[in-house]
Amino acid sequence: MSDGEHSYYEFWKETVSRVRETLPEQEYNTWFNRLSYLRSEERKVVLSGASQFILDTVISRYRDLLVNTLSELTGEEIVVEFEVAARPSPAAQESHTEAASQAKRTQIKQSITAQKSAKMRSESNLNASYEFTNFVIGDNSAFAYNASLAIAKNPGVSYNPCLIYGGVGLGKTHLLSSIGNHILENTPELKVMYVTAEMFTNEFIESIGTQKTQHFKNKFRKVDVLLIDDIHFLQGKDSTQEELFHTFNNLYDSKKQMVFTCDRPISELKNITDRLSSRFERGLNVDLQPPNYETRMAILKNKLSLRGASMSEEILNYIATNVVTNVRDLESSLTKLVAYSELLNQEVSFDKAKELLGVLPAHAAHASQTLSIDTIIKVVGQYFNVSSFEIKGKKKNKSIVQPRQIAMYLARDITDFSTTEIGTEFGGRDHTTVMHSYDRVESLMKGDEAFTNTVLKLKRDLTTIKD
Ligand code: ADP
Ligand code: MG
Repeated sequence: MSDGEHSYYEFWKETVSRVRETLPEQEYNTWFNRLSYLRSEERKVVLSGASQFILDTVISRYRDLLVNTLSELTGEEIVVEFEVAARPSPAAQESHTEAASQAKRTQIKQSITAQKSAKMRSESNLNASYEFTNFVIGDNSAFAYNASLAIAKNPGVSYNPCLIYGGVGLGKTHLLSSIGNHILENTPELKVMYVTAEMFTNEFIESIGTQKTQHFKNKFRKVDVLLIDDIHFLQGKDSTQEELFHTFNNLYDSKKQMVFTCDRPISELKNITDRLSSRFERGLNVDLQPPNYETRMAILKNKLSLRGASMSEEILNYIATNVVTNVRDLESSLTKLVAYSELLNQEVSFDKAKELLGVLPAHAAHASQTLSIDTIIKVVGQYFNVSSFEIKGKKKNKSIVQPRQIAMYLARDITDFSTTEIGTEFGGRDHTTVMHSYDRVESLMKGDEAFTNTVLKLKRDLTTIKD
């Protein structure tokens, strides 16, 4: 035996006892009584069987099971090899059994548990720093927070599936990850998986290229909790949608928990099949709104204390009053000031803070002056998956014309620029084109509720203002 420090013998015994639980006794006795542990090498377990026939059967029926169980237990990718033995039950087994002291067994058991939970964590893709305990609750988020906590405490039971939607930087990823982290901590036997819709898409595409779609399907269908972030990314990705549709049905039927996030209500998604969007809308849909002044202050104070830093009320008030867009912007304003103060090892004065923060993100009072037409074109374009270049260009496909008209409408509605100035920014168009687009959007809004919601959402995004 060349076992040395790579002995997987205890793992092998655990594997066998698991297999025994899952197989009918007769079947187990037939094959596994004629199979023995021979030795271990690095990431390899060598087994011996009484005859080639036995080995061939074991290989074809159980090799995957053995490899998977051993790999799961050890947290490593284990290869299993087979050799025909002159006689079954080699001495190796006996001497090992005797040698393994009780202490060693306990130690190995503990290490199996620790390795297993480390493995579960790394396979979950979760960012461990997003937790319920560091999420500040406000009127804007209380409902979403409570729903998420209820799900984490009882996955698959109360709200399945659940959709959390809201604009950028409002805490969707934070809540989604908190659900996963809570489950990993409290119900470690459940397999949790976090992916962004983009990761899901890329893996799916890759699995097609490498002809491993079955592997991909199995991977997502064997989880207990599936968390998919930013599903708006799936717009227009037909075959990925199809794949997710089947994954959804599979998990839903076996009562596995699913939670999704999206940057807008499902009804505002474009190029998503009806059957998939109806699945997303099933269960519970909760939204996250921008925080109000009090919540912004609470978030700033919370982030400060987490960093063990301090800052005057006057400065905090200044940030909370001016940074109204979302939590991410609040956080980055604070980071800037804290970094400055730590680097120079001195308190930041109010004037210095104002100077450092410079031009703050869009604010109510200034929105009309500071919002550029280019920003409007960019934001509208991102929403519809159309580039600024296309919006300013001459193409007349409906998928470009409508975003172009909406962007012109919003530019005229929100800013103080003249229609001539707007026309110029839109690739040198005449001011009458801008006026025509404005009228067109206005009349469409009278008859089409979904369209109206889209325009209003974009307007809200561009001028996101609370208080
Ligand atoms: P989204 O996924 O909606 O774009 P994130 O979840 O990434 O937003 O949040 C952006 C940043 O703001 C993260 O650092 C997150 O921890 C923080 N954050 C968001 N909401 C809260 C909250 N209510 N309390 C504390 N931190 C928050
Ligand atoms: Mg996010």
